[in-house]
Amino acid sequence: MKTAVIGVGHLGRHHARILAAMDGAELVAVCDTNRDRAHEIAAQYGAAVADDPASLVGAVDAVVVATPTASHLEVAMPLLQAGTAVLIEKPLARTLREADALVAAARAKGVALAVGHTERFNPAVAAARPLLASPRFIECHRLGTFPDRSLDIDVVFDLMIHDLDVVLSFVDSPVAAIDAVGVPVLTPRIDIANVRLRFESGCIVNLTASRISRDRTRKIRVFQPDSYVAVDYAAQELEVWRLLRGPDGPPRIDGGRVEVQRDEPLRRELEDFLAAVRDGRDPEVPGEDGRRALALAQQITDAMLSAV
Ligand code: NAD
Repeated sequence: MKTAVIGVGHLGRHHARILAAMDGAELVAVCDTNRDRAHEIAAQYGAAVADDPASLVGAVDAVVVATPTASHLEVAMPLLQAGTAVLIEKPLARTLREADALVAAARAKGVALAVGHTERFNPAVAAARPLLASPRFIECHRLGTFPDRSLDIDVVFDLMIHDLDVVLSFVDSPVAAIDAVGVPVLTPRIDIANVRLRFESGCIVNLTASRISRDRTRKIRVFQPDSYVAVDYAAQELEVWRLLRGPDGPPRIDGGRVEVQRDEPLRRELEDFLAAVRDGRDPEVPGEDGRRALALAQQITDAMLSAV
């Protein structure tokens, strides 16, 4: 399959690296408003430089858009309208209106639109999923040091949205209530946020996201009536503890680390995207899921503003 990457900055260059090496895929072109960067990455992976995203229409089967969020609509829309499959990095768009327009354009053309919620493809998350029957309480921590990128959006849309997407894929119930606080510290936007979600099922989810921490933490822990499932996204580690009730004696807790076959989530995400294009099916994280996570992120930031 012929592929291209638009936006080959911090993340886009990894998309380019993986597509250039993937069996059954060819990285035909890269495109970036920073022409030096475009030429550097193109030379590294034996691709051409496309000056204009429109020139990719008809020349490739699938495009990755890894430009800053503010430009996702303007970059991806002409491709979708021309019937080209697109994977757009998270968050899908700047606003729900833009997200709706992208989803509608993809559906109107019957073309694949995937969203880069990479944690869904984390092998530890995939291994945890079948163990989750009835989450009652979920705790998420996603903390990082101050970045030089993605400062055009609140930390909720940059970091917390990864956990929101995973939580929404774990808890099959509407959100009933939101308590949220967000604090701008080093930027005029929210740099650290804490949120408590209550789902109609009764499940409570606590999320903390920060881009002003000293250490890097990426964890999700799920408490169920008879088990505790903990995922370290960054280490790709999974721990499972179960409550065992025998016929006699007190209940016991048993468990520990579960072996996970480590793999690069971004590569799995791209493999799924290209397979979806090839097979004419929806990708694992379709546009609607990206829209769903964005909508919850928006509700959370609205709740933060109304609490001030
Ligand atoms: P970045 O600033 O490092 O890279 C963006 C690149 O896009 C730059 O090279 C820039 O020159 C180029 N660019 C900007 N506007 C363009 C346009 N209109 N056309 C072509 N090129 C353009 O940013 P980044 O950290 O790589 O983030 C890019 C996207 O990826 C964002 O949406 C971000 O949220 C997302 N992201 C996702 C993950 C993940 O885990 N899935 C991780 C990091 C970033």
